[in-house]
Amino acid sequence: MRLKNVPGSKEYIAQSNFVIHDETEKKGKIRDCFSNDNPIRIEIGMGKGRFIYDLASQNPDINYIGIEKYSSVLLRAIQKMEENPLDNLIFIRMDAEDITEVFQDKEIDRIYLNFSDPWPKDRHAKRRLESRQFLERYKKILKDGGLIEFKTDNNDLFDFALEEVEAAGWKMLSFTRDLHNDDVLSEGNVMTEYEEKFSAMGNPINKYIIQKP
Ligand code: SAM
Repeated sequence: MRLKNVPGSKEYIAQSNFVIHDETEKKGKIRDCFSNDNPIRIEIGMGKGRFIYDLASQNPDINYIGIEKYSSVLLRAIQKMEENPLDNLIFIRMDAEDITEVFQDKEIDRIYLNFSDPWPKDRHAKRRLESRQFLERYKKILKDGGLIEFKTDNNDLFDFALEEVEAAGWKMLSFTRDLHNDDVLSEGNVMTEYEEKFSAMGNPINKYIIQKP
């Protein structure tokens, strides 16, 4: 998702209390953003933040951090928090490539990846958030037994992601190629903005849940 550049969004984000600023300087202190020891779960590429906002409001005993690269998109998530703030949700504007510069080893309980950009050209494969290069980063920050949940309607991206899981030696806990018709995996499913849009067009949704090796 790349909204048109929204003038002033960077400045707006810079003064927001719903955002962790200077995130690399906060490495080791991210937990201080929450006044509890509850698990921390992150969504990478959260877009306008509907999924993580709904998840956080349903699960007040879990802390959530939404990560988004683009200011114009993050701005929408901040505006939602301003209308109805949640104590257990905060955002970071950053490129996920730098994730190990922000989170400590084994700090994160679970990672959500939803409708990630497909980067269709082969030479861009390592930019895909499900690539083995990203799985290596996630392995560092996830605690032992930590999980990644990934959803997409893009079959090529999902096929690639399955290959990467195997190559990187992660454990496949479950997967489906039709989430909305899967009795087990669809239970409690929280929709993302893209999920609603693409499933309304008739696209089946793929999902996997994998565990850190
Ligand atoms: N997850 C949302 C959903 O399912 O509705 C948005 C999906 S949108 C296609 C992908 C989002 O991931 C975009 O907002 C994009 O800016 C963000 N993104 C892509 N690569 C990223 C990266 N390396 N780090 C952080 N965000 C990224």
